[in-house]
Parts: sequence; structure tokens; C-alpha cells
Amino acid sequence: MSARVTSGIQYSSFSGWLDRPTDHAPSLEGQVDADVVVVGGGYLGMGTALRLAERGIDVALLDSQFCGWGAASRNAGYLTNTLAGDAQMLAALHPRRLRKAIRFADSSVGFSNGLIERHGIECDYERTGNVIAAVTEGQLKRSRHNAGILVDAGADAEFVEGRAFGLPDAFFGGIYERAGGLINPGKYARGLRDAVLKSGARVYENSPVGSIRPGRAGVVVTTPAGRIRAQRVVIANNAHSRDLAIAPPRMTAPLWVSLVETEPIDPERLRATGWTSRVGISTHHLVLESYRITPRNTILFGVRRPEAARGALGAREVDPRVASDLVRAFRLRFPTLSDVEPRRAWGGWIAMTPSWLPLAGEADDNVFYAIACNGHGLAQGPYLGALLADRLAGDDPHEDLRTLWRRRPWFSPSPASSATAVRAAWTVDRLSDRLGRRAG
Ligand SMILES: Cc1cc2nc3c(=O)[nH]c(=O)nc-3n(C[C@H](O)[C@H](O)[C@H](O)COP(=O)(O)OP(=O)(O)OC[C@H]3O[C@@H](n4cnc5c(N)ncnc54)[C@H](O)[C@@H]3O)c2cc1C
Repeated sequence: MSARVTSGIQYSSFSGWLDRPTDHAPSLEGQVDADVVVVGGGYLGMGTALRLAERGIDVALLDSQFCGWGAASRNAGYLTNTLAGDAQMLAALHPRRLRKAIRFADSSVGFSNGLIERHGIECDYERTGNVIAAVTEGQLKRSRHNAGILVDAGADAEFVEGRAFGLPDAFFGGIYERAGGLINPGKYARGLRDAVLKSGARVYENSPVGSIRPGRAGVVVTTPAGRIRAQRVVIANNAHSRDLAIAPPRMTAPLWVSLVETEPIDPERLRATGWTSRVGISTHHLVLESYRITPRNTILFGVRRPEAARGALGAREVDPRVASDLVRAFRLRFPTLSDVEPRRAWGGWIAMTPSWLPLAGEADDNVFYAIACNGHGLAQGPYLGALLADRLAGDDPHEDLRTLWRRRPWFSPSPASSATAVRAAWTVDRLSDRLGRRAG
């Protein structure tokens, strides 16, 4: 793994979960044809290609690096039915769609469980569920209220008290979402890649798509060394879709999200923090903090201070100032582990949509797009990909797909596209931390 070590932290430009594969699929060269081309081999693209291949459709999957290079191998591994965004805000923004969006997210966990089982993917799955937890009295009040909103809208969730449920002491309680749990996303992405490679889909790696042009004789997809003519194309390259001229403008706002992992911790010390449930935790801030135990008995934590994109979305490392901020938060939430040292840091690009919901639609004739991110695409990505594949295979659109379908490829700007707004959210969160601390 190529990585820089500073102040004891190994900064990786890929992922801390696993190394890059050494067996890359060939890159696209010359001119070929396919029925469907999928651009981007993350969860969404691999989910789409796998389902199309299973249905006997001639599909080509192209990735600029290798399948799993993006957020798929880098994320924190919460396999969850959580929708991004505060439940109260989502209920206000989408009063008629919330129930259906929750059903989509619930189904996505069931779908992912099936995918893991069907393909025998070893990904250290712990079915703990996940908790959106409160670290201030204000957040606790909001958690109770939001748990009610989610349950009324049909979510498989409940409000739980912190210590009684097995949360560490700094987390007073929160919304327990029973479905899913924690996985090693690197192993999951690698397992999906293996499944796609075996599926009959044609996979081209090191093949960055530069342009997608619909025409009378099909849609032409161009890479530096080749072209594919296809009947239909699916744009599934997440935050990077903004670099494709045909993708709807303003569909996504890319944010760089950072994670830090500690050195291994004695399991007894971990239990003594009160974290007996081992559940995955995210906080109820405007921008969440995340804390989870890994199979190597380390704690992986992050998010809290995302960065809006400036310029190209290339490979990058975590900014040491952001890592320091994350470590400060870790020490605040886990005072009894103040001697535990951070050891690794990595990050990745997520894409925020203006609606805070996953979405799909048609950008131009026979050019489709789908995005299941908002930082929560681990379960939702492969499911949305499969739903879209079924539609391309000729099925009536599934109700869950209809919920997310955009009739027009037109989007208003997302607040996450403004660096100032993103920084302001961090400041508001820190103020609320200070004002909302529990006495004694
Ligand atoms: C640090 C971090 C933590 C996260 N934690 C969680 C979590 O715990 N739970 C959760 O549900 N979600 C989490 N997420 C979000 C989740 O990882 C994403 O929602 C999910 O990976 C999105 O899948 P995707 O297929 O849309 O995109 P990606 O996995 O990013 O895949 C996109 C692919 O497109 C390829 N590509 C880009 N441009 C081109 C091009 N021009 N031509 C060809 N290929 C291209 C890339 O190489 C990449 O492989 C996290 C994300 C990050 C970054």
C-alpha cells in the first residue's frame, strides 16, 4: 500500500481496508459494441452490470481505475437503511415521498443481505444494526422526535437509551435502526468485483470515459484508447459524474470525506467504555460524526468535517488538519481511551444530491443516470443498480425505482456545493457541542 506516514499516522490515497488489486481487467482498446454500457464500477455500477449479465444482456462495465476504486472500498462499512439527512428535514422536504423512500432504503438492506449470501462474499458482516446517537441534550430531544417520524413513516427503527442499549458513555441514546450492521467494505467491493468478473459482463478497467454521445446508430462512449457503441448507457460514476458533459448539471455536489483509524485496543477496554452492543454509531449533528469498532478491534471514526470540491476530483489524501480535528472529537467522545493513538487515515468522494435522496432518470435519449450516495450508498447502490437494470431489461419499473425517478434532468443547486455552507455547518455543530453538554 503506497502511503505517507506523518506523526504516526499512515495517510493512504486509497483505502485502509485493503490493497489495490493486482489483476486488472484489460482496458478498452479499439471499437466494440455492447447492448448496455455502464460507466463506473462502484456499488451502483457493479450492481447494474451484475443484474444485466444475470439476465443475459450483453453489458460492458468501464472503470477509470478498477472496480471498487472509489467510495465503494473506502467507506466506513455501515450497511444501513438510513436515509441521509435529518428525518424532520426530509419529512418537510418530501412529505409525500418519505414513506416510499424509507421503504426503498429498507428493501436495499434486504437486497444487500441476499447479494452477500448468494455470492458467498466474506466481508466480516456483524449484524448489529446502527444507531444515530445524541451527544447533547438537544440532540437527544431531536432523536426522540425523529424516531417517531421514522416509525410513523414505516421505518424499522426505535428510540433507545444509551447505556441501557450498550452505547459508550458519551452517547446518551438515539435512533436504533435494526436492519444491517457493519462490514469490511473493501472485502465487499472486492467480492462484488469477483462476482461481476465471473458473471459474463465484459469489464474494462483503466478506461476513463471522456464522453458519451447519443446518435442515430446508438450511443458512443469514448475512452482514451477506444470507443463502444451501445443501445443504452448508464452513468454510475458517483461524484465524478459532474465531469461528464452529458450528466445533468448540478445533479451532485461532491464532498471529500475523511476517516481515521486507531491502533488496536484491548477488547476489555472497549467494553469498559459501555459499548457492549458493538453497534455502528453516527451522531445527530448537522454533519455527522461516525464511530465503529472494526474486526481488528480498532475504532474507525470520521466525517464531521467534509470538504467541498475545488477543481478536479483526483486521488488525494486526508488533510492532516482534518485528521487532527477528527482525533480531537474521538478524544472528547472516548475520554477513557485518551492514550489510544491514531494509526491510519484515508478518505473518498461522496456525492450529495439536492433532494438528499437517491435518484435516477434519463439524461438524454438512452442515456440513464443513477446515484445512491449522499454518503449512504453501501446498501442502496447495488439495489438501485439492480432496479435500473431490471427496467433496462424490459420490466415495468419497480415501485421503489418510480419513487426515485426524475421526470426531468433538472436540479437546483445543493447547499453542499458551497465551501462556505459546509464550513458553517461545522461551526454550528461545534457551538451546539459546547452549549449542549450534559452537566455532571
Ligand atoms: C469515507 C466514506 C465513508 C462512507 N461511509 C459509508 C457508510 O458507512 N455507509 C454507507 O452506506 N455509505 C458510506 N459512504 C458512501 C458510499 O461509499 C457511497 O455511497 C457508495 O460507495 C457509492 O457507490 P457508487 O457506485 O455510486 O460510487 P463509487 O463507489 O464512488 O464508484 C464510482 C466509480 O466510478 C469510477 N469512475 C469515475 N469516473 C469515471 C469515468 N469517467 N469513467 C469510468 N469510470 C469512472 C470510479 O473509479 C469508481 O470506481 C461513505 C463514503 C466515503 C467516501
